[in-house]
Amino acid sequence: YASEMNASIEEKLVLLEGLRGALEACVDPACQDPAACQFQLLYQPKVDLRSGRLFGVEALIRWQHPEQGLISPLRFIGLAEESGLVVPLGDWVLRTACAQAQAWHAAGLPPLTVSVNVSARQFEDKRLVERVAGALRDSGLAPAALELEVTESAIMRDLARSVETMRELEAMGVSLSIDDFGTGYSSLSALKSFPISRLKIDKSFVRDLAHNPDDQAIAMAVISLGHKLDLRVIAEGVETEQQRDFLRANDCDEMQGYLFSRPVPPGQIAALLAR
Ligand code: C2E
Ligand code: CA
Ligand code: CA
Ligand code: CA
Repeated sequence: YASEMNASIEEKLVLLEGLRGALEACVDPACQDPAACQFQLLYQPKVDLRSGRLFGVEALIRWQHPEQGLISPLRFIGLAEESGLVVPLGDWVLRTACAQAQAWHAAGLPPLTVSVNVSARQFEDKRLVERVAGALRDSGLAPAALELEVTESAIMRDLARSVETMRELEAMGVSLSIDDFGTGYSSLSALKSFPISRLKIDKSFVRDLAHNPDDQAIAMAVISLGHKLDLRVIAEGVETEQQRDFLRANDCDEMQGYLFSRPVPPGQIAALLAR
């Protein structure tokens, strides 16, 4: 047991060292070779359920490890979070996503909002607002084209400060959405005070939506709560027509999931917009 534990600790340390090295290569201003960067962002379309229009994309990070191949964020975001590396890594994500969104705009694509995931540690970072302003300034992206996705648990860690951070971002013109809604706990009275524009129904409630009455009740409750608070409601993880039909029939606003598209490299977004 002890040796197994050592192996997993060692595995983590190796991954952490790799993460640190890969990150240095990406943020090194002297490095002009984007191919040297082991991280990449894929973009998953978000679609309006009534019009079918693709109105935005969520940036999702991937790590192309030289020995281990493609590594899912589920394997390294937690590690980046524990070690604090998520702050510079998140900054790279923010800058890359803003630059990409501005490049789509400059190429004449219809307006798209780009959503970036912000982890708890990043959200607590005193310089978050400054970092967001810097990414917008350097890319030239309009603040209204950027959305940050934050989880309830990240917000609830220090509620008063979170609300202040959210207000500063809102004042800047950046919009906020609550990710994985329903999986954490935020009190309804706290929710009322958040300057947010969207709730995202977590995919764990969408998976069995076609058959499971409990999940149906939860989805309907989130949609109705969101609308009463004047928020838009998006469902993630929509894979089947039955799930989509249920959401549409129950007045959900938007969806995201394999049914419309998997996360794709940035070059494929124009074709998806034309579809
Ligand atoms: P999330 O923010 O809840 O993102 C949704 C996840 O569901 C993504 O997994 C996405 O690829 C996946 N997904 C999308 N559509 C479907 C579908 O129809 N069915 C199923 N089964 N899954 C679907 P991914 O890309 O592996 O990301 C996992 C998590 O890692 C994300 O969950 C997010 O919490 C985190 N993450 C990803 N990129 C970043 C990043 O740049 N920064 C931070 N801080 N976290 C990130
Ligand atoms: Ca998300
Ligand atoms: Ca969102
Ligand atoms: Ca989720």
